[in-house]
Amino acid sequence: MSMTKTKEKKQGAQIIDGKALAAKLRTAIARHVEVLIGDHKVLPGLAVVLVGEDPASVVYVSNKKKAAAAAGIRSFEYNLPQNTSQDELLKLVQTLNREKNVHGILVQLPLPKQIDENTVLKTIDPAKDVDGLHIENIGRLMSGLPGLVPCTPLGCIALIKSVEKNLTGLHAVVVGRSSLVGKPVAQLLLRENCTVTICHSRTPQISSITRQADILVVAVGKEKMVKGDWVKPGAIVIDVGINRTAAGGLVGDVDFDEVSKVAGYITPVPGGAGPMTIACLLGNTVVAACRQNELTVPHIG
Ligand code: NDP
Repeated sequence: MSMTKTKEKKQGAQIIDGKALAAKLRTAIARHVEVLIGDHKVLPGLAVVLVGEDPASVVYVSNKKKAAAAAGIRSFEYNLPQNTSQDELLKLVQTLNREKNVHGILVQLPLPKQIDENTVLKTIDPAKDVDGLHIENIGRLMSGLPGLVPCTPLGCIALIKSVEKNLTGLHAVVVGRSSLVGKPVAQLLLRENCTVTICHSRTPQISSITRQADILVVAVGKEKMVKGDWVKPGAIVIDVGINRTAAGGLVGDVDFDEVSKVAGYITPVPGGAGPMTIACLLGNTVVAACRQNELTVPHIG
């Protein structure tokens, strides 16, 4: 890949359309679901557990359920009150672990403060952990073993590979080191043979590092933090951040107007990493359903 060449060819970045890519992926998943039902009598099932009524979580859960239905995946919905105890939630998770028709379990985060997230995550059967947050799946990702990989990082890699198939030798910089996004996306980039640098809140002079990135993934949660002069001309920029503005709109961690003048490729917010996250959740549910029924896991994408 020649970043300089890319930049010379055109003015401004090409937008990576996450909505369109996700729609394509969801169509492919729906076809796999048809085959699972038709040839193997397996109807993939996804249990979605929401505790409380956090407005953002309510929207995410509703979008996930709609997308599952559209792909032919059966969803099971559990809406628990805000004051649910940890024991009650753990009992539900244990029941879902045993339920044959449930192949994937998603407990929407964050959870109310009386519930310890790690205790809940480690109670989910790793084979049904479609969010990829169980410690066994984290270990599998680190060790390069098959497992379930967190959805947003999977989506980031698909977005990057939609514009550059071979990432070998490219310098990828990830800003953010959460277990949900930063760390797993860095592992996946490493798996693609990138040279990976991870930055976080204690990294001095971040812009001098991000400027060296052929691929820049930003998952921080700070509105428009990444400016135009933080980015190498021609770079692929994936903006994971979702920040609500005072006016009620959504913006990313990347200053889109500035960075799109410099980058080669950029994802918008909304319409980039968000839709891909949901599509990858459906993909993980199909993968989990195949494995639990000892069927060949399809290549989805
Ligand atoms: P976390 O809050 O868990 O992690 C944020 C990371 O950013 C931390 O590692 C933190 O560093 C780092 N950070 C904070 N401030 C700075 C700074 N000034 N400079 C550099 N690094 C900094 O967030 P998540 O990873 O869960 O999410 C990040 C963003 O992505 C959020 O906006 C979230 O809403 C969005 N998101 C979007 C998804 C989607 O589907 N599109 C899915 C998941 C998240 P440290 O570790 O040192 O504190």
